[in-house]
Amino acid sequence: MYDVIIVGAGPAGLTSAIYTRRAEKKTLVLEAMSYGGQIINTLSIDNYPVAPHISGFDFATKLYEQAKDLGAEIVFEKVVNIQNYDTYKEVITTKNTYQAKTIILATGAENRKLNLPNEKEFVGKGISYCATCDGAFYRGKEVAVQGGGNTALEDALYLSDIAKKVYLIHRRDTFRADETFIQQVKLKANIELVLNSTVTQLNGNDTLESIVVTNCDGTVKTIPVDGLFVAIGRVPETENFNQLIHTNDFGYVIAGEDCHTNVDGIYVAGDSRTKSVRQLVTATSDGAVAAIEAIHYLNHVII
Ligand code: NAP
Repeated sequence: MYDVIIVGAGPAGLTSAIYTRRAEKKTLVLEAMSYGGQIINTLSIDNYPVAPHISGFDFATKLYEQAKDLGAEIVFEKVVNIQNYDTYKEVITTKNTYQAKTIILATGAENRKLNLPNEKEFVGKGISYCATCDGAFYRGKEVAVQGGGNTALEDALYLSDIAKKVYLIHRRDTFRADETFIQQVKLKANIELVLNSTVTQLNGNDTLESIVVTNCDGTVKTIPVDGLFVAIGRVPETENFNQLIHTNDFGYVIAGEDCHTNVDGIYVAGDSRTKSVRQLVTATSDGAVAAIEAIHYLNHVII
C-alpha cells in the first residue's frame, strides 16, 4: 500500500513527488508516456523564475531525477481506472493494480486534434503535433502550422530556420500568442500568414502532399506542403476517471486552489484542473499544494 499514488510525471506530478518524498511518504508515480509531459516540447523556457533559457527537456529531466533521487518510484504504465473504497483507493493500469491511501491526479492535457477524416493516418507521414520533435524531417521543405497561440508561433519560428517556407494558418486575424512571438514572426521572410482560415482537408497518398484551407468568407485554396504541424491547444486527459471525479463541460477536474476534488483524499494538480492560468509555474505550484494537502490528509485525517 502506497501513501500516495501520483498519476502523471509532468511538472505538476513530479513536483508533488518531491514534496511527498520529503515528507517521507511512500510514493508511486505512474506515467503513460515519457516523463515531463507537454513541457518537453518547449525549446526554451524563458518565464520560469531563476532558470531562463532552459530547454523543456532539460527542465523535465532535472525534475525527474530530483524526484527519483528523493525515493519516488516512477513506473511507466497507463492508468485506465481508479476506484475509491472506505479505507483506501485503487489505481488500475493496463498491467497492474495498485493501492494507495491518497491519489494526486496530474495527468495534464493532450494535443487537440483537427478531427479531419484522414488525420490519424498521416501522423508521422506529414502530420505532427510537435515541431521540436519532428521539425528536422522537413529541412528545405514547405510546411504549415495551424494555430494562433504561443505554441503555434513558437513552432513557426522554429520551423522557419529549418524549412524553406512556413505557412502559419490561424482561424482569426489576431493572434492569442505573446507579442514578442508575433513581432518575431512578422520579421521572418519565409513565414506567410494565412489568416481567418482553417485546414479543412488533407491530401496525399502514402504521405501528406497538400492541404485544403478554407477562409471564413468561404473561399478555398489548396497549398502544397510536406508537413502540417497542428498546434491548436490541448484537451485534458481525464476520461479514464471522470466517472468518479467531477469534471466540467470541457473535461477539466473541478477543484479550487486547494486542489481538492469531490472525493476525500484525491487531489488534482496542473493543467487538468479548472483554473484560469495554465503555465509551468502554476503547474509546479499546484503540485506542491496537492502534495501538502495529501500529506495533511495522511497525517491528520485517516488513521
Ligand atoms: P492555446 O493558447 O490554447 O492556443 C490554441 C490556438 O489554437 C488558439 O489560437 C486557437 O484559436 C486555436 N484553435 C483552437 N482550436 C482550434 C480548432 N479546432 N481549429 C483551429 N484553430 C484552433 O494553446 P497553446 O498555444 O498550445 O498554449 C497553451 C498554453 O501554453 C498557453 O498558456 C501558452 O501561453 C503556454 N505556452 C507558453 C509558451 C512559452 O511561453 N514559451 C510556449 C508554448 C505554450 P483562437 O485564438 O481563435 O481561440
